[in-house]
Amino acid sequence: MRPALLNPLFASVTSLSGVGPRQDKLFRYLLGRDETPRLIDLLFHLPGSVIDRRARPKVRDAVPGTVVTLEVTVDRHRPTPSGRSRAPHLVYASDETGDVVLTYFRAQPGYVEKLLPVGTKRYVSGTAQIFDGSLQIVHPDRVVDEAGFAKLSGIDPVYPLTEGLALGSLRRAIAMALQRLPLLPEWIGPDILRRCSFPPLEEALHRVHVPLELTDILPESRFWSRLAFDELLAGQLALALVRAQLRRPAGSRHAGDGHLRNRIIDALPYALTASQQQAAAAISDDLRQPVRMLRLLQGDVGSGKTVVALLAAAAVTEAGKQTALMAPTEILARQHIKTVAPLADRAGLRVAILTGREKGKERREIVARLANGDIDLLVGTHALIQDDVAFKALALAVVDEQHRFGVRERLALTAKGEAVDVLVLSATPIPRTLVLTYFGDMDVSELREKPAGRQPIDTRALPDSRLNEVIEAVGRAVKAGKLVYWICPLVEESDTVDLTDAEQRFDSLKARFGDKVGLVHGKMRGLEKDRVMAQFAAAEINLLVATTVVEVGVDVPAATVMVIENAERFGLAQLHQLRGRIGRGSEPSTCLLLYREPLGEVSAARLRVIRETADGFRIAEEDLKLRGEGDVLGTRQSGLPGYRIARSDVHAQLITQARDEALRIMKQNPKLTGAHGEALRCLLYLFERDEALPLIGAG
Ligand code: ADP
Ligand code: MG
Repeated sequence: MRPALLNPLFASVTSLSGVGPRQDKLFRYLLGRDETPRLIDLLFHLPGSVIDRRARPKVRDAVPGTVVTLEVTVDRHRPTPSGRSRAPHLVYASDETGDVVLTYFRAQPGYVEKLLPVGTKRYVSGTAQIFDGSLQIVHPDRVVDEAGFAKLSGIDPVYPLTEGLALGSLRRAIAMALQRLPLLPEWIGPDILRRCSFPPLEEALHRVHVPLELTDILPESRFWSRLAFDELLAGQLALALVRAQLRRPAGSRHAGDGHLRNRIIDALPYALTASQQQAAAAISDDLRQPVRMLRLLQGDVGSGKTVVALLAAAAVTEAGKQTALMAPTEILARQHIKTVAPLADRAGLRVAILTGREKGKERREIVARLANGDIDLLVGTHALIQDDVAFKALALAVVDEQHRFGVRERLALTAKGEAVDVLVLSATPIPRTLVLTYFGDMDVSELREKPAGRQPIDTRALPDSRLNEVIEAVGRAVKAGKLVYWICPLVEESDTVDLTDAEQRFDSLKARFGDKVGLVHGKMRGLEKDRVMAQFAAAEINLLVATTVVEVGVDVPAATVMVIENAERFGLAQLHQLRGRIGRGSEPSTCLLLYREPLGEVSAARLRVIRETADGFRIAEEDLKLRGEGDVLGTRQSGLPGYRIARSDVHAQLITQARDEALRIMKQNPKLTGAHGEALRCLLYLFERDEALPLIGAG
């Protein structure tokens, strides 16, 4: 249970005065939460920049274009003349050196008079401008009297916002949240505190939200760094706690004599690549060791990860145990079973699939067979981690495209067996820092080479003014019996997913090519999607209009042409994933990137990279570079997925330090007992990394 000490921080933002349902909605959006955010979410929303109000020149010396705070006397008002509501309300003020005009557009009647009574002294802060030859401030950010000025911070934090949310109301909410911050025990050891000059947590939070220096809010500052370290330590400690449970009970073995693996290899219509063989051998070794496996199998799209996973499952079956393969989507799960089933059949491996679609009697039967040990490999989606899904002897969990799953889901799956080995499949090269933050230490196998006989993909970019030519070319391909993907971007307008692009394109292509055209998109029911995909795989449909649902995993080796509409809207990684759906067979493939003009600099660079290379590692690198420079999401990009405060670029050093500290803690106090253990538990709860605590019991 979460220590009561932390409760104030987990109170919802609506418990703050002035925060109602409207703000709740905005805060949810801003903070990326489905439920009402808590105060802690506000406090972990850190500023992106500051406004420096410390310049306090005389009126005469105010530099236009800079933010200044002026001490002035209010001389007179010129309210908006009646009938000319567009004209501003002007306030004339001065000090002994000159005059300044304060300008208010569309002010509430009486508001400005009350704010700036004639004859009084006021401190006015905002951006100085020259208009009509005189100094003016339009809508000053701050207007305070002497008492207010004494409390006025010279440096105002500026936060990332969302439309409809005013900076002022976010600041107010954060200020109130700061007041409720309880005094927390120190969990960072004195050595590290000293070495990194970390302040206490309370001070760190205060200084990033109420900066005293401009540099206080930089991610490099010791204040932000302290918070990043806390977050990273919580993550590493949680992973270390999980990993500490990774010793197999003596005598339990997860790999057999190899007879099933050999049968599968014999049944393969192709030879394994050298890196597939190496990966399979490394996994077999792991499965024989007394320490549990935590291995990442990284390989570009089409590199053949599934068969390696199948060999791992076969090794486990030889030892009389079971395997679960969890994929993030229904399509992917079906894809896996399709690849795996024919090979498994021939080798005598019993496989089944369980997704949200298997219901009623069918589902009951699968669950019963699983519990009896009559299924060796169960492929599925999240449905695998439902409570009533019990294995007789789960020994291996294979998780595909892991970055879509959290630690919680991984644990939920591995908790269904004893000492379960974990194999993670990923098509995206994950940088070392990310591997560390996701998994702690993890072994990595890479599939560097493509299966033999693959043809390079001819990739071209064309402006959409040449759409007609493209349609002609597609028509010829369809006529020649080729299989063509036509990808339309999904336009997401706030909550509503707009499908018109794909549907309209489908209609127009259908009008032209008739029954040869199919449509598949994310809003379709699973069965319907499968039906269309199956028709495409069987070449009953030659031209498949699709949204990005085909992005990951879909495998129709005969497909050789892909058109991507509005290619400028896709990210590099996404384009690479999409294109990976073709070039999977022995026929040459073509990819046409249609873009809308004018093309921005970053989009142009993306299209150039994707035309020049098919190397997933290089593309991932270029992607990082381009994002760093031009992405509209700006600062969020250097963030670590699942982390709110730590940044992969600035805090890379802290990641390894946090890992080392977590390992040290695991050596000295693995059950997190005593005062320091108590503090560390508090840390885990604060960052909601407490999922591993039940594994070690109460402190
Ligand atoms: P991914 O790594 O993207 O998951 P898959 O496992 O889906 O790749 O494999 C892509 C395709 O390549 C499948 O059709 C698979 O049967 C085929 N394949 C896998 N390994 C080889 C190989 N060594 N030689 C030829 N084809 C292979
Ligand atoms: Mg795959």
